[in-house]
Amino acid sequence: MQIIQSNLLKQFSKLLQGFTTKNNGNIAFHVNNDKYKVILNHKTLAKELKYDVDTLIHMKQVHLTKIKIIDKNDTFLTPPTCDALITDKKNIPLMVMVADCSPLLFYDAKKEVIAVVHAGRAGAFFNIIKVTLNSFREDFDSNIKDIYVSIGPNICECCYEVGSEIYEQSKKLYLDYAISTKNNSYFLNISKILHKQLLEEGILEDNIEFSEECNACNTDKYFSYRMEKEAGRFCGLLMLT
Ligand SMILES: [Zn+2]
Repeated sequence: MQIIQSNLLKQFSKLLQGFTTKNNGNIAFHVNNDKYKVILNHKTLAKELKYDVDTLIHMKQVHLTKIKIIDKNDTFLTPPTCDALITDKKNIPLMVMVADCSPLLFYDAKKEVIAVVHAGRAGAFFNIIKVTLNSFREDFDSNIKDIYVSIGPNICECCYEVGSEIYEQSKKLYLDYAISTKNNSYFLNISKILHKQLLEEGILEDNIEFSEECNACNTDKYFSYRMEKEAGRFCGLLMLT
């Protein structure tokens, strides 16, 4: 077992948090036909981190910007279709699955609210961070300055070559600052966009942590959709205790 803890969130004793690696196996049902193996991986992870697997909420992630407020009626077997989850309920682990996309963990330390977010290119381009922080503000009366954000391993710029159509789209959205050119090829830096969006929403610089690891540069440790033929998913996990 190898769970990577967020150094930023480690200071909060009321949180169970971390990012998994290949050691924990694939935890996504849609990429592996062996459903029982995936369930076993979930059970092993739950035992390791000491939460009840039946209370875990994951998502059918669809690269949109919808957020779902989670309460006691949601269950492991009925994951909502969305790309962000938020709750102020204790003992409900929230999970975001990735393999190149960015897993974001949010924590309002004053109001005791947590959120997990899946941000790939679409999530970054269409600002799922704004949607998430609007929910913190409107549904939980959060002060943005109280919110901490940890972003787990995701694909780095060098590993993320994109086509000219993506470059054109980024220009239309005023996001071309996140694209660099090398030998007539385009490379996209998703973290650059996420960082700017977090600051624009009022998150304090000191409350933001980016993992220094690229999953695609480290396929011995993490799954990567771009680098591997059949990639599983690793995850970010957050729970209020
Ligand atoms: Zn890389």
